[in-house]
Amino acid sequence: MSDMNRRQFSAALAVTAGALVLGRRQALPLVNQARLAEHLNGLAEFGKNPQGGVSRVAYSDADVRGREYVMGLMRKAGLDVSVDAAGNISGKHKGTDKTLPPLLFGSHIDSVPEGGNYDGVVGSLGAIEVAQTLIEKNIATRHPLEVIIFQNEEGGLIGSRAMDGELTEKELDLVSRSGKTIRDGIKFIGGDPGRLTSVRRERGSIAAYLELHIEQGGILASEKIDIGIVEGIVGINWWDVEISGFANHAGTTPMNQRHDALLAAAKFIEVVNKVVTSVPGRQVGTVGRIQALPGAPNVIPGKVVLSLELRDLDAKKINSLYEQIRVAAQEIANASGTRFEFKEINLNLPAPTSQKIRDLIAESALDLHLTAKTMPSGAGHDAQDMARLTDVGMIFVPSIGGISHSPKEYSRPEDIANGANVLLRTLLKLDRW
Ligand SMILES: [Zn+2]
Repeated sequence: MSDMNRRQFSAALAVTAGALVLGRRQALPLVNQARLAEHLNGLAEFGKNPQGGVSRVAYSDADVRGREYVMGLMRKAGLDVSVDAAGNISGKHKGTDKTLPPLLFGSHIDSVPEGGNYDGVVGSLGAIEVAQTLIEKNIATRHPLEVIIFQNEEGGLIGSRAMDGELTEKELDLVSRSGKTIRDGIKFIGGDPGRLTSVRRERGSIAAYLELHIEQGGILASEKIDIGIVEGIVGINWWDVEISGFANHAGTTPMNQRHDALLAAAKFIEVVNKVVTSVPGRQVGTVGRIQALPGAPNVIPGKVVLSLELRDLDAKKINSLYEQIRVAAQEIANASGTRFEFKEINLNLPAPTSQKIRDLIAESALDLHLTAKTMPSGAGHDAQDMARLTDVGMIFVPSIGGISHSPKEYSRPEDIANGANVLLRTLLKLDRW
């Protein structure tokens, strides 16, 4: 090989190596961690409270100003901003293939009263940062991109339930934490409650939905894991259980002649714990509220009302645990001369995430040399409503100390940026898929 040839050969090699690198890992940009942190601090000003968190409940003045700030960020990112009739904020960016439905990604910016600066915010601002990074680096996607900020997540997933058609006319008259009805709240943030049907999206009209969120639990932080890959959002079933015995004099009724509803309740609470822990898995069961009537020291309780809550990723498992609890309750009733009545109060079906998207999140974390772990989400998210319309995926980042819905909620800027980078890569993998 002549000198000339060798130089040409080396040059060719360098080009090939460069192209390979460009075509693979380093080609994908990273989000701007400093800018993302700055936006987080910026949004924290709206509804800021002395404890260091925010009270930015949906439909409050702080919510409206926070929304304006976020819409400003979206415009600066190069997104085409609109507000739908339910008050959800969309920031759209065209794809190269007009025939494809959009890839949705986002979260919410409303908070609980005296909430923190990370729940919902990380996923909302993370989504905008991902879009901005892609736009400024001229990375085109086949699918249109749509950043979505759902309204009033904390007050019952109102925005996402409007989108999947679950929000009822009756619910619009419920009073939200802002003091306004949901109907008035929707008007207040620029929506039109009379046109909610226009917000509905059909199955097939969304390519996929991705949500970045803080874990709101302490597993990732304590195990020093960067990324949580959410297997699904647990189903939550809640019953009120009424136990009827016989109220009688606590001094004159012998022990063997009592029908003590509270004693039966005590046995029931223990049975719930026994049944729930009798099979392997991460299911949880709780009796969190109890009231004994008439509630006097010198009267045998004649009636008890308590709550029973069961959560798991598998609805069948919840049903089977519930059936076992019912059988055990009947045994307690027979032995104590009491009666148990179960009334279903609320039923949220489990929302599994897509296995394919979980795999892509895992690959993305690996590409970035981040550690990851699959886990259920014990808290509710807008993603559970989107799961009725399309494939969903959720990416968790560590919550320091596992604290959430509190001004003490905290996630480190580098952890948030990691999550946004995983979101960016997962989006691009999904786009090619
Ligand atoms: Zn949230």
